[in-house]
Amino acid sequence: MLKFYLQTYGCQMNIYESGVVRRVLADAGLTETADEHDADVLLMMTCSVRSHAEQRALGRLGTFRALRSEHAGRVVGVLGCMAQRFAEALVTDHRADIVVGPDEYLRLPELIRNVQAGTTGLTSTVPVEQRVATRQTSECYDAVMPARGLSRDGDCPQNPVSAFVTVMRGCDNHCTYCIVPHVKGRERSRPLASVLAEAERHSANGAKDITLLGQNVLAYRDGSRRFPDLLAAVASALPRARIRFLTSHPRDLDSSLLDTMRRLPNVCPSLHLPVQSGSNTILQRMNRGYTREEYLAKVTLCRKTLPEVALTTDVLVGFPSETEADFKATLDLIEEVRFDFAYMFRFSMRPGTRAGEFEPKVSESDAGRRLSRLIEVQNRITSERNRDMLNKVFELLIESPSPRDSGWLGRTVFNKVVIVKGNCAPGDLVRCRVTHINGWTPVAEIHAPTAAVC
Ligand code: SAM
Ligand code: SF4
Repeated sequence: MLKFYLQTYGCQMNIYESGVVRRVLADAGLTETADEHDADVLLMMTCSVRSHAEQRALGRLGTFRALRSEHAGRVVGVLGCMAQRFAEALVTDHRADIVVGPDEYLRLPELIRNVQAGTTGLTSTVPVEQRVATRQTSECYDAVMPARGLSRDGDCPQNPVSAFVTVMRGCDNHCTYCIVPHVKGRERSRPLASVLAEAERHSANGAKDITLLGQNVLAYRDGSRRFPDLLAAVASALPRARIRFLTSHPRDLDSSLLDTMRRLPNVCPSLHLPVQSGSNTILQRMNRGYTREEYLAKVTLCRKTLPEVALTTDVLVGFPSETEADFKATLDLIEEVRFDFAYMFRFSMRPGTRAGEFEPKVSESDAGRRLSRLIEVQNRITSERNRDMLNKVFELLIESPSPRDSGWLGRTVFNKVVIVKGNCAPGDLVRCRVTHINGWTPVAEIHAPTAAVC
């Protein structure tokens, strides 16, 4: 029986796609191994959002090639965004055996068999233009129930109680800096019934924290049903599970979503609302579709409707033409909103995107300095917000043993990870009191067990 090794780079959507690949390979009779030396097939699920992620994957591809030279018949494959972006060049310049784009995973077993039969250098990527033309039939892997990976999938820790369900693929937004629409194609939503069935299966398999995923879930539609309808359907069908979702485009956020969240007790009060910049000039050049003032008004609406909501964001610095004044506007916004957490990035030029052509570029040193300053400010705010948790009691869903000490890692409904000491197991819901902060991680002790979820 053939064994495969799969490494995942990138975001939650890639973890999900790796689950699809696992199922496709398992159904074809392959088994997964956590040891690359033991594998017949070496695969990587790649990300093209920033150049750094691509460079890391190309470095790893070198290791895969070295392993192939030690063992005749080993197959090396590149999957996902880089497969779509580089296509044949991954075969000709980087000597991959198979290259499989995001809509072609069902063909993997056939491609692997072909390579083993002696036909190397096969690519299976569909040009984005073609996918646009076949939008109605674009692949959503509706019939594939993603399989759970090994305890650690490359960079991505896995735990037995959380699950992701992709509700839509692709993106129609065309932010000028972003490669996603170029590699993942047009936006298409899965039928509500199929999302619901998948969430129910995860729940039956033990998942207690389910995250609905999409590049902009607020663009979801199935006939007349929109994302709040989907959220309500999943949350009502699984009243004992915590339900989350990612990512919400600020432009599309409205009171119908917030009212739905308020109404449903098991929808977690946390929102990821990427702002990208606090400067109107830059937001416009990014084609984000909102102004700073509109964004702040949405934050006010969120906090008015859901007073305890945890807000997180993405911020991008060093975008072409960003001035010190633009950057200061971003810092001011960060101070004003006081996000619970932020993912912060330095602009990475992506070939083929409109911003790739924009001038003037911000120098590496200015962009690096701005990013360091931004991280410093946000880290202070994150740490202050975590300090607000001191001496309060939270319900934690225990996920996994803490890697650095003898405790456990648990998650609050606000998506905060807490270390807890005591006798627990993954899947337990425990009431904990936060006793101190270690670095910026809250540390808690068990207060009393609870029965009810959320
Ligand atoms: N769909 C989500 C949204 O609208 O915000 C985000 C998806 S994107 C894959 C995740 C984050 O990567 C973005 O929010 C942005 O901050 C960052 N990102 C995207 N393109 C980038 C680029 N060219 N350079 C640096 N960061 C980038
Ligand atoms: Fe990229 Fe913008 Fe689409 Fe997010 S919304 S995936 S940042 S184009």
